[in-house]
Amino acid sequence: MLRRISFPKDLLEHELKNILRPSLFGVLLLSLLLGGLALFTLSNSEERNRILFIASLGLGYSIFLLLRFRQFPYQQRTFRILLVIFHAGLSLLAIEWVPASLLTFPAAAIVLAIAMSSILMGRRAAYAYVAVVLLGLVSIRTGRATLESILPGMAALSILAVAIVEFVTGMLQINLQRIRRLQTINEFARRIGSSIEQEQVLHILGEAIRNAMPIDTCFLAIQVTEEKLYLLLTYDGGRYFPPQEVDLDGTLSGWVIRNQRPLFVADAQKDVNLEGVRIVLTGNKRNSACWMGVPIRIGERKGVLAVASYIPNAFDSTDLELLENLAQHAALALHNAAHHSEVEFKAQLDSLTGVYNHGSIVQILEREIEKAYANGKPLSLIMLDVDYFKQYNDTYGHQTGDEVLVRLAQTIKRHIKSSDFVGRWGGEEFTIVLPAASAAQAGQVALRLQTALQTLSLRPVHAKTLPFPTISQGVAEFPREASNSEALIQLADRRLYLAKSRGRNQIEPEPVPLDEDEPS
Ligand code: GH3
Ligand code: MG
Ligand code: MG
Repeated sequence: MLRRISFPKDLLEHELKNILRPSLFGVLLLSLLLGGLALFTLSNSEERNRILFIASLGLGYSIFLLLRFRQFPYQQRTFRILLVIFHAGLSLLAIEWVPASLLTFPAAAIVLAIAMSSILMGRRAAYAYVAVVLLGLVSIRTGRATLESILPGMAALSILAVAIVEFVTGMLQINLQRIRRLQTINEFARRIGSSIEQEQVLHILGEAIRNAMPIDTCFLAIQVTEEKLYLLLTYDGGRYFPPQEVDLDGTLSGWVIRNQRPLFVADAQKDVNLEGVRIVLTGNKRNSACWMGVPIRIGERKGVLAVASYIPNAFDSTDLELLENLAQHAALALHNAAHHSEVEFKAQLDSLTGVYNHGSIVQILEREIEKAYANGKPLSLIMLDVDYFKQYNDTYGHQTGDEVLVRLAQTIKRHIKSSDFVGRWGGEEFTIVLPAASAAQAGQVALRLQTALQTLSLRPVHAKTLPFPTISQGVAEFPREASNSEALIQLADRRLYLAKSRGRNQIEPEPVPLDEDEPS
């Protein structure tokens, strides 16, 4: 929620000065004019001196404030109280000492003082000043005049005071709130613009919304199918919820996505008469009373950014505007994050075959070996190499050779588990990492692969289908046969060449049928 505004703290010094300057110049000119008039028109020297005294106080005060503005501790309570007393004292003295013919001068000065107090010290201090002046007037005047005779003047002053105080503080409040919103958006855009991870972007978005609006619930959902929404971000009643899928049909979010228009339901108890819309509960499963959602587009995907409150009419149109603004920035940042992770993922892959490249498969092997070690489980590695591939290339052409590599990679992927990894070691050599598999289980995988390749053939060239080459494979198991990744690779590699030397299209060690263990 926007924090409470207190003017001197929220305005910059030069801003405060600029707002105050007209009033201070007003007091300065009024004092000069009053002093001048007293000097040249009044013959009674006592009366003249009194007015000159008041005029010089007003003059001195306004000049002092204009020059030494920054020295004053406006935040301090005691200083404010002193200022209120000083203003009130000066005003009362002026009313008391200035003759009836010149009373408009103190009256005008009081009006300016009300405006100044509102700006400098806020609403409460301004009303305190007015109250002190009114009470002072009552106590001074009732001695000489009847209460009825001064009552109209006091009533007029009160009305004027309320109008000025409310106008000044209201205007400032509106402007400061606007500035605060812009600052929120600015800060948000800066932070979110420099984030490239989706999770971080979502976190910044959630925090910004919570800071800027009086929300209980907030979510960002992306349409994944015709009927389903995926909640990327869900915050409700003080905590975040894990991502989940929800139905889109008939929801307020569905309406926003279908119509690609913002929706603002100020009071859900009264306002929801949108065609085919019902309220769906997420998060804490509690009905929201005030709901606001804006469409968001992340690349090609449509979605909705929504906030809600359990209190009816918690938001206004400026909140909706802010939400739209945040959504725009978030959409761009989320698109960038998606692009970034795609680029990062692609950089791990071999461009021809789409399996992991050498660098990634080495990293994966090391990571999986650490896991296997920590869990006390085995891990097996298969190194395989296409037989007589040079010759194959020479006979059928390099392009056909490439096609073989692509088909081989696809076939390997089809014959391993989703928890296994395959990478191109280089040239026509591939590596398969099989976490939690013994060498015997890996041998079965190798065998299945060998068999599968026998059934493959390539597209017909000149009405002749091309044979698919065979492969040789070496299998090794961690930690039983090798205690680290390097030794494991070396052993599998040695066995691969042993398989080659045994005449190719072989697996080393030769797989034996498994009896108890399920083949991996
Ligand atoms: P061996 O049975 O001993 O493995 O014989 P080989 O001919 O496969 O062995 P060698 O290492 O001598 O040859 C590897 C060949 O693989 C050389 C090269 O033409 C071919 N090769 C390597 N990378 C690629 C590739 O990306 N595309 C194609 N088409 N061929 C490749
Ligand atoms: Mg080869
Ligand atoms: Mg080779």
